[in-house]
Amino acid sequence: MASVKRYNIFCQKCQHNFPVFASVYHTIDVDKWVKEKADSHDCKSYADALAKARAPRPINPIKLSKKKA
Ligand SMILES: [Zn+2]
Repeated sequence: MASVKRYNIFCQKCQHNFPVFASVYHTIDVDKWVKEKADSHDCKSYADALAKARAPRPINPIKLSKKKA
């Protein structure tokens, strides 16, 4: 059984570090694996998740309601 490790992967596209929990076997080329993970990073949903975590409430509710109308 391989143990699950936390890998910090840097995405070149959105310029963010994101954590990936995975068990990478020693037979796997970690550098290549990390690169693949970075290439397949879902930048859009990561940015959305970050925005949600940083701003749980809308900063400008007036602007928001205008957008809806
Ligand atoms: Zn990204």
